Amino acid sequence: MRVTQLFTRTTKNVPADEVSKNAQLLIQAGFVYKEMAGAYAYLPLGLRVVENIKQIVREEMNALGSNELIMTSLQHKDTWLPTGRWDDKVVDIWFKSHLQDGTEVGLAWSHEEPIVQMLQQYVHSYKDLPISLYQFQTKMRNELRAKSGIMRGREFVMKDMYSFHTNAKDLEQYYNDTIEAYKRVYERLGIGDDTYVTFASGGAFTKFSHEFQTICEAGEDIIYLHRAKNVAINEEVIDDAVKELGITRDELEKVKTAEVGNIFNFGTQKTDEMGLFYTDADGQQQSLHIGSYGIGITRVMGVIVEKYSDEKGIVWPEAVAPFRVYLARLGENDDVIKAADELYSHLTQAGVAVLYDDRNDARAGEKFADADLYGIPYRVVVSDKTVAAGKLEMKKRTSKEAQAVSAKELMKQLGAEA
Ligand code: ATP
Ligand code: MG
Repeated sequence: MRVTQLFTRTTKNVPADEVSKNAQLLIQAGFVYKEMAGAYAYLPLGLRVVENIKQIVREEMNALGSNELIMTSLQHKDTWLPTGRWDDKVVDIWFKSHLQDGTEVGLAWSHEEPIVQMLQQYVHSYKDLPISLYQFQTKMRNELRAKSGIMRGREFVMKDMYSFHTNAKDLEQYYNDTIEAYKRVYERLGIGDDTYVTFASGGAFTKFSHEFQTICEAGEDIIYLHRAKNVAINEEVIDDAVKELGITRDELEKVKTAEVGNIFNFGTQKTDEMGLFYTDADGQQQSLHIGSYGIGITRVMGVIVEKYSDEKGIVWPEAVAPFRVYLARLGENDDVIKAADELYSHLTQAGVAVLYDDRNDARAGEKFADADLYGIPYRVVVSDKTVAAGKLEMKKRTSKEAQAVSAKELMKQLGAEA
């Protein structure tokens, strides 16, 4: 993409009420636009990051044999009555409205009940099971406080997956496979080393649910870590878990974290409450065993920004960066324009995502400052000087020194075929 075609520009103006680092940087870089507290638009550069995160999650969920779909944002009150979760005293973050004829509807904050309801049409016999479904969907939650930028939205993108099984053992196997898939996801996203599978409250069947908690100063959670045993416990269940695991509290280290994922084993509770059953091989009616698995897509993006930035801006891990290369053309001479244009199409054709700064009205310093703020992993310069030398100037976002490289060496560094 050419910078001259990009509608956003970097800015120093951040809304006065924006206190979080992630939103400040993302607004300055033009990745997001703040509509109001807890509601952000994802602009072209921000959307590319969201899509990169989604694609990594998608690949891992597909590998689990899950089916991608999109459920509706408008939800029927009746769907939520059997489990008691329409009640505002039970779920305190509902946005509710009504149709013109007075029918009450809610805006999707989760899809557990609607998915179970939908499956009444598709699951009848043991032959239909197991199945797993997932989606990327914008959830609406009327959160009390929204001060953590995109880490806590009143509207945010979640990946939610639901699995359905004939028996507890099958669910447990899938649940454990999902834990492994989640570990791969966070690893690929660049936060694997700081993300812990954490004992948390909840889970209708098992005593604990599992959260994925990433060490992050701006996070809203606190966990207790046993690094040697690789055990992590959310503070909300600390007494229970310590007893269960046979460890003592003073062996544990207290750290601030952000919850980037959460998985539940519901056992047969939801199916029994909502009346979703299947017929087994003997013609008997049986309850389904259900698991529910979330990842906060936009929260993960916020966490990455919180963890990977410096005084100049964002430092994206390569796998999620909006572009891999920031190509800065310095100068307007024909041979410089020609060399930069050619490199741009060469890289693009090789499958490398390039943001091409083809502006005539920006100075070198401005282009470099933008490249740093955007956090793009590689900055490549084409100028009178580089054209004369028959080389390019390449600098990684993470290093201080620029180096002279040939086009061929650059392609090699990027792992792209010439
Ligand atoms: P929290 O405790 O942070 O409020 P939760 O336990 O209510 O989150 P879940 O219902 O488990 O959240 O949702 C699955 C995932 O969605 C969470 O693990 C988190 O990563 C993300 N998430 C939840 N609420 C928000 C929010 N308001 N903004 C952004 N992401 C969120
Ligand atoms: Mg949770």
